[in-house]
Amino acid sequence: MNDTTSIEKHGRVFAAPKWDAEGRQNLIGLSKDQLIALLGEYQVPAFRAKQIWHWMYHRGVKSFDDMGNIPRDMKAFLDDRFTIGRPIVEAEQRSQDGTIKWLLKLQDGQMVETVFIPESDRGTLCVSSQIGCTLACKFCHTGTQPLVRNLGAHEVLQQIMHARDVLGEWPSNDKRDGGRDFTNIVMMGMGEPLYNYENVAKALKICMDADGLSISKRKITLSTSGLVPMIVRCGEELNVNLAISLHSADDETRSDIMAINKKYPLADLMQACRDYPLDSRRRITFEYVMLKGVNDSDQDAHNLATLISDIPAKVNLIPFNDWPESGYECSDRDRIEAFAKILADKGLDSPIRKTRGDDILAACGQLKSESIREKK
Ligand code: SAH
Ligand code: SF4
Repeated sequence: MNDTTSIEKHGRVFAAPKWDAEGRQNLIGLSKDQLIALLGEYQVPAFRAKQIWHWMYHRGVKSFDDMGNIPRDMKAFLDDRFTIGRPIVEAEQRSQDGTIKWLLKLQDGQMVETVFIPESDRGTLCVSSQIGCTLACKFCHTGTQPLVRNLGAHEVLQQIMHARDVLGEWPSNDKRDGGRDFTNIVMMGMGEPLYNYENVAKALKICMDADGLSISKRKITLSTSGLVPMIVRCGEELNVNLAISLHSADDETRSDIMAINKKYPLADLMQACRDYPLDSRRRITFEYVMLKGVNDSDQDAHNLATLISDIPAKVNLIPFNDWPESGYECSDRDRIEAFAKILADKGLDSPIRKTRGDDILAACGQLKSESIREKK
């Protein structure tokens, strides 16, 4: 079932533009077959289209001119009609802890935020899927920004390609995998990725293609507030790691803080998790934001352990990141530790996440871009 239509109830979803001011079409976002078909219309042979695809996604060149094995006249022809550009970097902020947040300006002037989080053993890029979000979960800053539009597949990819440009890490360059800074992708930025499934899936397939961005599905995690029918499709078609924004193990509290729970209550959500195809050693991550007096009691911890007891799971306890006029407070450190201990005693892996990038409003749930409303 395709649930993208239900988003229409929340507002119009404008398509991401694929042509620039000079009428040139952006080739980023096209699958290999689509590129072969499009360039075939101009009598570009399929083997050339495959070379161009490789240059774009595997080697990360930003202009046709840099495509070494493409004939000169073909480069000029391509440059007249197409682009493989990047978004404009409107702002770059670097946190004291090394986290980098980019505010990227898209072709129609809309802004989107992307965050890179370096850790000792990995580097994770937090990628946005929408401008704003329809769901308005009460504790989330992004949720205060009404949905403006879905990002196109090219705009999801451009965030990743931009980070690779900045970090100098394309699959073709010299660094061996062990030495890379950027290793993982989480679809945890602005928006609900499963409400923009088609574009997100298309982008992730290009990411996972060995001839494309060449990022293994084991290094990609999609986070969802719990769109049950699309979780099923995501498992079948992408099978990336799944993170569920759970935040409460009882329907009453969860429906209060996350309206989506009224449509897809916990029983349905847990069934979708049980059915999610996981091969050995893979687990589902449950995100649990610690909200003082809302979901942080001993009883809440016991309920959580019971709820997920038959699912291969890991719980990420996220200290609530405050934002102006949120109306919530983060649970005290002692409370979070007591909560974590109850889960650990039940054999659950339940790390307390270190807050990253909060000095630049780059932490979980703090992303929000000043959006531009399209004139109707
Ligand atoms: N829409 C998707 C992905 C983006 S949200 C989802 O909801 O899963 C990324 C994560 O940040 C989610 O787990 C979300 O619940 C969490 N989050 C939102 N607001 C937060 C806040 N203020 N503090 C800490 N985590 C927050
Ligand atoms: Fe949207 Fe996720 Fe924030 Fe909820 S938590 S408002 S689904 S971005």
